[in-house]
Amino acid sequence: VQIGAMQGGGAARAGPNVVLFLRDLTSAQRLETMRVDFVANASHELRTPLASLLGFIETLQGPARDDARARERFLGIMRVQALRMTRLIDDLLSLSRIELRAHVPPTQVVDVVPLARQIADSLGVLARERGVTIALEAEPGPQRILGDRDEILRVIENLAENAVKYGGDGGRVEIHVGSRPAEDGRPPQVEIAVRDEGPGIAPEHLPRLTERFYRVDAASSRQQGGTGLGLAIVKHILNRHRGRLVIESTPGEGAVFRALIPAHGEAKEPADQGQATS
Ligand code: ADP
Repeated sequence: VQIGAMQGGGAARAGPNVVLFLRDLTSAQRLETMRVDFVANASHELRTPLASLLGFIETLQGPARDDARARERFLGIMRVQALRMTRLIDDLLSLSRIELRAHVPPTQVVDVVPLARQIADSLGVLARERGVTIALEAEPGPQRILGDRDEILRVIENLAENAVKYGGDGGRVEIHVGSRPAEDGRPPQVEIAVRDEGPGIAPEHLPRLTERFYRVDAASSRQQGGTGLGLAIVKHILNRHRGRLVIESTPGEGAVFRALIPAHGEAKEPADQGQATS
């Protein structure tokens, strides 16, 4: 911890004003390390598809110049790489927008049930491609929170899309929306639980899943078109909503991701969210 003092003359007051400042250097250093890591990771993630694009451009200008079939195939691959970069940039922008609003509490009264229905419908095509069934179960009545509609849609979408992507072909994904009574000093919550029947996640990975760019299997994530930012976005949105993400998994038996957000009308004063840790 660094302790310092600054002196300033106060025209209207006799004697100097003394301002003490306390700074936790370890936490400042930790944040700086995280920032540097983040920039390095983001640059690396962008460089990889960019290098591939440049390689194909050179091939198209050189050896494959007159090969119509190769040109078609390479252009297809280039399109996929360009889309990957677009997704990554979109996710980076989403994260920074959410961080900018981190301390502005959301104000819309939002019923989570229709949002879950919207995501279950919109993921239908992806699910059908993989033979996955999406089931939505909602407890009767509206499940209201004070929130940001688009951000809550994003939470449900990221969790449900992961369940479809990683839950294994031919499986079942269940989205459950319900309420939880007050417990452990917490107000009543609205819970959005997304369950899959995939391979699950080994316990050592669970605490790190919401870190930016953390992936259990990077190759499989990239193959699925993942950016490694989905759960970091979920976590930041839930922080802004004074909510939390609870992940449970038994390897071999699937995973459950629970987003818990204070129910509308029951929320307390914003808790100190501290500095983002991922
Ligand atoms: P990605 O873009 O890689 O999907 P996420 O932040 O959404 O990034 O997820 C981080 C990692 O967590 C994924 O790469 C994957 O390894 C793991 N993961 C997320 N959801 C699931 C799930 N339902 N089952 C198994 N692993 C999952």
